[in-house]
Formats: sequence, C-alpha cells, structure tokens
Amino acid sequence: MPASTKICPCIGCSEKIPHHMLSCRRHWFLAPKPLRDAIWATVGGDWTAWAKNAQQFVRLIAQKEGRECTETEFDRLARLPERA
Ligand SMILES: [Zn+2]
Repeated sequence: MPASTKICPCIGCSEKIPHHMLSCRRHWFLAPKPLRDAIWATVGGDWTAWAKNAQQFVRLIAQKEGRECTETEFDRLARLPERA
C-alpha cells in the first residue's frame, strides 16, 4: 500500500484518502467551517492542538451520523495520523 494513502478516521467509514487529508470529502464537509478552519490552522504546527481538533472532528461526525464514539475509537484517533 502506498504510504500516501490512509483510511478515513470517521467511525464506520473505510474510504481511502490521501495522507495529507484528515477525512474523506463527505465527512470533511459535514463539519462546520469554524472547526475545519481550526484544523487547517494547526496542520504542520502544534501536534497536540491538531490532535485535539481532530478528535473533536471525529466525535462531531459520529454524533451527526448517530454513531457511538467509543473510547477505543477515541484512543485510536489520538494516534492519527502516523507521522513520517
Ligand atoms: Zn469518511
């Protein structure tokens, strides 16, 4: 598998996405713009801030789709993306 591809971290999603993207397009545009802007603002910067925003993102999408965001999923997300 090419290193530039990963799976969308949103719960129940198995969409393949480019490595530089947080989620697939469908999920990305479900998030409110302020949150998307906040995520962009931390890309390549403070890792902790980025991870916090990313967790918030996945949790919000899970809520919107009526999915349960388990602690296991949450922990898994905290380690995304794997940095090269
Ligand atoms: Zn997705």
